[in-house]
Amino acid sequence: MQRHARKRILLIGATGSIGQSVQSVVRTHRDRFQIVGVGARKLSDGLIAAAKEFDAESLAVTDEADASVAQRQDLSTRDWLAGSQAVLQQVERADYDLLVNAVVGNAGLEPTMIALGRGRSVALANKETLVAAGPLVMAAATATGAQVLPIDSEHSAIFQCLLGEMRDSIRTIWLTTSGGPFWEKSFSDLQSVTPDAALGHPTWKMGPKISVDSATLFNKGLEVIEAVRLFGVRPEQVQIVAHRQSVVHSMVEFNDGSFKAQWSVPDMRLPILFALSYPDRVPSQIVETRLQDFQRLTFEPVASENFPCLQLALHALQRGGTTPAALSAADELAVGAFLNGQILFTEIPQVIESVLKGWPDESLSSLQTVLDADRRARTAAGKVLAVHLRKVENRIC
Ligand code: NDP
Ligand code: MG
Repeated sequence: MQRHARKRILLIGATGSIGQSVQSVVRTHRDRFQIVGVGARKLSDGLIAAAKEFDAESLAVTDEADASVAQRQDLSTRDWLAGSQAVLQQVERADYDLLVNAVVGNAGLEPTMIALGRGRSVALANKETLVAAGPLVMAAATATGAQVLPIDSEHSAIFQCLLGEMRDSIRTIWLTTSGGPFWEKSFSDLQSVTPDAALGHPTWKMGPKISVDSATLFNKGLEVIEAVRLFGVRPEQVQIVAHRQSVVHSMVEFNDGSFKAQWSVPDMRLPILFALSYPDRVPSQIVETRLQDFQRLTFEPVASENFPCLQLALHALQRGGTTPAALSAADELAVGAFLNGQILFTEIPQVIESVLKGWPDESLSSLQTVLDADRRARTAAGKVLAVHLRKVENRIC
């Protein structure tokens, strides 16, 4: 692969919370990084602005309806694509060193696989990729020698703690959680939670899906699966600990009794900078942590049985095969329905559970198996939601 003076970055999910933080990091370190392509779902003003600001060579949108709008934009010098396969085509044919995958949901899986297949490393925010198809993803990376570099703050912390260490010296990976906005409450008391309340995370400003997933602690379940896949450890080696300050991003306990932790003020630009720079560390003042601001750091146990969404995720990990892909797809639909006011916050786990109840045990034989499982889980979740809505309508009439 040709080496460029500045790392050439293809940024998909460019308009979201992570995508914008990636833009901010690149803006600050233009001598090191270059965004050569941007992709998203819609042709929004934000996407056009990013394409222009970074003088992107390619632009892709998956929303078919935006194709004609894109034609009218002043983007004539760029390779631009629109339609359901647009981002996949962009990842397939663009010239880049690193794919930054900041797409939300299972839609992030195929771009990751294409980039790794081409031998391009992937800075991965899209945890759903590893949840749905972790073993296939890691095998694809090994086959071409490409790397999967985590952006998720906990996994970036663990990755950094493990540098220079042997994998068989790991005793336990400690994933920290802020506990989300409803930590003090019992799940059954959360029936009246509104989307606005669920979107109000105490420490992180994130996109809507991950904010709701953090409020149910489903996100932490996804992160346990992500850690197992990424670091090749057994599920029982990953433990969750509540750390309300979100300063220690995660820890590794080694088999001699030593702990390593990585910490800083919570700011996603730091794990992003690390993933973009790896294997170097780029000198930066982008995030500054003052020790004197943290006089008390606390760690508390998490009673996972009080969080049904977390329980469902851990159960899916135990089952393996295509169950985690189905879990992730079902959650996407359930969270969407909650945000649209169709179901209650406390009904999110019920939708996921209904989909997983009849889910067959099937092995993760190929990418096609995962895509097929994703499609079937969405259909099943759609049916569960339709039945639910009919019941609610009958009650109102
Ligand atoms: P957002 O909802 O803010 O952004 C999602 C991005 O994905 C948008 O750019 C959106 O485009 C794009 N997108 C959605 N569907 C598609 C599709 N089918 N094809 C191409 N692009 C698509 O999400 P976040 O930035 O919060 O999260 C992104 C990922 O990073 C998630 O997997 C999340 O779990 C993970 N993550 C996020 C963290 C955070 O702090 N936000 C922290 C750790 C991990 P458009 O704007 O056009 O809809
Ligand atoms: Mg995280």
